[in-house]
Amino acid sequence: MEIKLERTNNPKQRPEQSELGFGKYYTDHMFVMDYTEGTGWHDPRIVPYAPLVLDPAAMVFHYGQAVFEGMKAYKCDDGRTLLFRPTDNIKRLNRSDERLCIPALDEDLVLDALKQLLHVDADWIPDTPGTSLYIRPFVIANEPHLGVRPSNNYIFMIILSPVGAYYAEGLSPIKIRIEDEYVRAVRGGIGYTKAAANYAASLKGQEKAKSLGYSQVLWLDGVEQKYIEEIGTTNAFFLIGDELITPELNGSILGGITRDSVIQLAASWGIKVTQRKITVQELYDAHEKGLLKEAFASGTAAVISPIGEFNWGGNVISVNDGAIGELAQKLYDSLTDIQYGRAADPFGWTVKV
Ligand SMILES: *Cc1c(COP(=O)(O)O)cnc(C)c1O
Repeated sequence: MEIKLERTNNPKQRPEQSELGFGKYYTDHMFVMDYTEGTGWHDPRIVPYAPLVLDPAAMVFHYGQAVFEGMKAYKCDDGRTLLFRPTDNIKRLNRSDERLCIPALDEDLVLDALKQLLHVDADWIPDTPGTSLYIRPFVIANEPHLGVRPSNNYIFMIILSPVGAYYAEGLSPIKIRIEDEYVRAVRGGIGYTKAAANYAASLKGQEKAKSLGYSQVLWLDGVEQKYIEEIGTTNAFFLIGDELITPELNGSILGGITRDSVIQLAASWGIKVTQRKITVQELYDAHEKGLLKEAFASGTAAVISPIGEFNWGGNVISVNDGAIGELAQKLYDSLTDIQYGRAADPFGWTVKV
């Protein structure tokens, strides 16, 4: 399918690279494609960035058929632009689509659309250290209809947002509150997808943690509230003794691409990496015995977030005396070196735009 291009006549003022923050600015163009029952996905196009007009009865507003992805484009010192494992994001988008009864996207077309959009908005990709261009593909149901069933019409879009360095002054450990009342997802539900509804479900616990001075929530399983699932919108890792443990993908955990990259990198360094169930009690017992060496979270936005403190119902433990762990730092450095093209890419993770 040919992708049409309509360029803007009103390019925006570029923001200062030091003021970018996260998710505040959007580029001049966006990719749009429609789905109509009977016709399928059609009319792929790059158009000036602009608000959408939707019918108030559009099904996304009422029944929440909305899924998204999050990835980044990185500017290298030699001028190349790299994507990190984009095909994995696109495949995951289709897994989210499948679970929410949204018609599958053509994965090659999506990658092609993304590359073309990045060419059109190439001068929006920031190049100062630690900055990147955040990429947000998403699908919403836009058929005007009241009554619960899958929509017959959808819109797929890609928008781009230049973002600042997540860590302006190096990695700093965060404080985590273990949530024992609210849950994010349950097995059999949509926790393994990037469905918008998961984030709506997480807001209350997140706000609670914030109000108590914690930067993130650690989510427990939705059935027994015993097993560790995720940390905010990132995956959890614990270095206990010489074993790097991450909760196994059980249907309610989002399988992060950073998580998978951490597993592969650490294993390649000879570290024993285990994907299994882990209870909060095991974490606290390991701390008690002096075996909890490091804890960190992984995700596209921050790459690696070292954890300095956990609070579980008022029982506070500190990890590695609140300092950054050696493994967390090494993983952060290695992953970002690959993403910014500063190091060899032995796993073939990067894709040149
Ligand atoms: C996006 C996300 C992650 C991290 O996935 P990455 O592919 O590593 O960015 C982890 N958990 C949740 C709930 C997420 O939404």
